[in-house]
Amino acid sequence: MKDKMIATQYDGKVLTEIAGFSISQLVAEHGSPVYLYDAETIRQRCRDLQMFETVRFAQKACSNLSILALLKEQGIVVDAVSAGEVLRALAVGYSATSDPPEIVYTSDIFDRDALQVVAEHHIHCNLGSPDMIPQLAEVQPGAEITLRINPGFGHGHSQKTNTGGPQSKHGIWHEQLPSCLAQAKACGLKVVGLHMHIGSGTDLEHLAQVCEAMERCARLVGPTLKTISAGGGLPTVYRAGQQGMDLAQYHRLWDEVRNRLAADFGHPIGLELEPGRYLVAESGYLLTEIRAVKKMGDNLFYLVDAGFNNLARPILYGAYHPMAICPVGQRTSNTNHDVVVGGPLCESGDIFTQEDGGVVSRRSLPAAQVGDLLVIGCTGAYGAVMASNYNSKPLAAEIMLDRGELRIIRHKQTLEDLIANERSALETVTR
Ligand SMILES: *Cc1c(COP(=O)(O)O)cnc(C)c1O
Repeated sequence: MKDKMIATQYDGKVLTEIAGFSISQLVAEHGSPVYLYDAETIRQRCRDLQMFETVRFAQKACSNLSILALLKEQGIVVDAVSAGEVLRALAVGYSATSDPPEIVYTSDIFDRDALQVVAEHHIHCNLGSPDMIPQLAEVQPGAEITLRINPGFGHGHSQKTNTGGPQSKHGIWHEQLPSCLAQAKACGLKVVGLHMHIGSGTDLEHLAQVCEAMERCARLVGPTLKTISAGGGLPTVYRAGQQGMDLAQYHRLWDEVRNRLAADFGHPIGLELEPGRYLVAESGYLLTEIRAVKKMGDNLFYLVDAGFNNLARPILYGAYHPMAICPVGQRTSNTNHDVVVGGPLCESGDIFTQEDGGVVSRRSLPAAQVGDLLVIGCTGAYGAVMASNYNSKPLAAEIMLDRGELRIIRHKQTLEDLIANERSALETVTR
């Protein structure tokens, strides 16, 4: 087996192959832009987490059915944050009624669709707001539930990914746990799980704090408790200098909490981990063609045919993605230039090289010309799932490379697909 490809190894360099496939040939056959996933990288990330008995994939990171099916094969269960995500999980054969449940609905509200789907398929729910307790009791009388707690502090790689503390909308405020327990009891619901997800980019120091808060809350719940969930937020290394997580240490801290609770309650306590990005980020690449190279004063721009309609993390969070050039034409120079990389949208924020707050930055990339390809790496998480049809751009195809074979896992949306719905509405006369 080939060594795994690490983002920092190709960032700012020339890259011509992924998982043994020629990048330029893939684009010649499947068009540009296109999302590519390397299945083996996902399997490797699953193996990293083997010490956790239950790994629950936060599918919002990448909910393509073929990716879910691959994760299912690896023994990973799923989290769903909407009716649509529950249906995706059911579509690949996850069971709602197993123990522990293979599908959990986690949210801070039930919209009408979600409540209906949860009721119809007996989905286990992780409730993030007190109002959800009576709403669920009405459609799932006697159900077992998990409560998501906001421990009063949080941590995230940006304000938008920080999911704890008083500024966050997520979870039940820790001081309200006793009243929610009383309310659940009065409604006939049984609290069997506790969940804390305080944000993406968790480090070990904050983790000790979360573990402590979890233990305190667990003792308030008492022996009906069967499972604790550590949430997600395991970091991915996107660029040189970033730190990965010491997984053994991470596991040890949580395992100790679980063991103490099990000893006190006199029965085993399940431990769940709920990663999104960790499992899929590194497997994904957005392949895009350079369509213009131009100077604006001192800035050299590479303009590509993918924009924030395809990958929104840079404009949303100032997120850094590793980038490489795959030359297609003759290479005339081996030097790197500091360039600004932008997309095709009629929107000045459509820049892939930007920092938090929208500050445009430059990236050192190999010399390139129109027709060469730009490979944007680590796009497997929060990439395709956040894509939009802004500027009436069709959604890109998604393809997966696995054991030397290529599979199309999502067909490119056609231009006709874009307007079919509205065309039929236009033709319907409403009075
Ligand atoms: C988004 C989310 C996750 C996953 O976060 P990552 O940073 O992708 O690991 C896990 N749990 C919940 C409840 C989430 O909302």
